[in-house]
Amino acid sequence: MNDNIKSCNDIVRKSIPKMSRRIMLSASAALFMPSIAIAVDKVTKNSTSAKHSTNKSTKGKAPAIVGRAKPHVPVIILDPGHGGKDPGAVGYSGTYEKHIAYATAVELSKQLMRTGKYHVKLTRNADKFVPLDGRVDFAQSNKANLFVSMHADALNNHSIRGASVYTLSNHASDAQSAALASVENNADRYGGANVHVASPAVQKILASLVKLETKKESVAMAQNVVRSFHSRVNLLQNPKRYAAFVVLKSINIPSILVEMGFMSNRVDEESLKRAAYRTLIASSMRQAIDRYFAIGGSVTHLTG
Ligand SMILES: [Zn+2]
Repeated sequence: MNDNIKSCNDIVRKSIPKMSRRIMLSASAALFMPSIAIAVDKVTKNSTSAKHSTNKSTKGKAPAIVGRAKPHVPVIILDPGHGGKDPGAVGYSGTYEKHIAYATAVELSKQLMRTGKYHVKLTRNADKFVPLDGRVDFAQSNKANLFVSMHADALNNHSIRGASVYTLSNHASDAQSAALASVENNADRYGGANVHVASPAVQKILASLVKLETKKESVAMAQNVVRSFHSRVNLLQNPKRYAAFVVLKSINIPSILVEMGFMSNRVDEESLKRAAYRTLIASSMRQAIDRYFAIGGSVTHLTG
């Protein structure tokens, strides 16, 4: 029985394009998520009224073609790690991670805006503290199609260097990734005792379906970034990693966390302090984002 269900799902998965699957998930999830239900209802009403107007206009001559829907412009949220009272990692020669993360995010934002293909927003536009769940909420309220968190953390082993890209998993790919996620998730200690991560109020099964689709897209995005970094930016061994980072926990927004290098390594810190190197990182990431959306990255948002 289970095998039958599995094979049916496989058939559906293979025969329906990715975009349509995402819309189907949206419709199913609408039964359980009021905000989605409203969005789906709106779409239904719009299509009903469109039908009426078509009927009227076909009575006489052929209908005039008047306007068309605006193309959807993907919303990208860039998340420079840390900020304000949370400096992030402190570099070999004293550079703060929060400044490196912010400067690179601003550069990437400029490059993406210049293409005219995206709406781009930053989770912080100054050197200020933003709690982790505040960053996730910001992406949700802006109906993001992609969330990119940017960091340059530190390790106890100062000889380790290179960039890496993370997607979410409850089980870390290795001990080093688990340790990094644990330090990152601890950033909220700067926000006081009341900061916590709210769990999404959705039915478990539907949430996991949506999550599966999101996870696949997150992994595809991470692969794109690693591919762009290759031969341009020094990469960590096994650069595509996974760990339980709180900022990657949106169930419906493909999310990645880019470690641009390690502040604890003298060479990485020196590189990241140079604007030319940060521009190289940004242009590699812009190329990866272009490729992701060109092959049909998530352009719908489940909350309408
Ligand atoms: Zn960090």
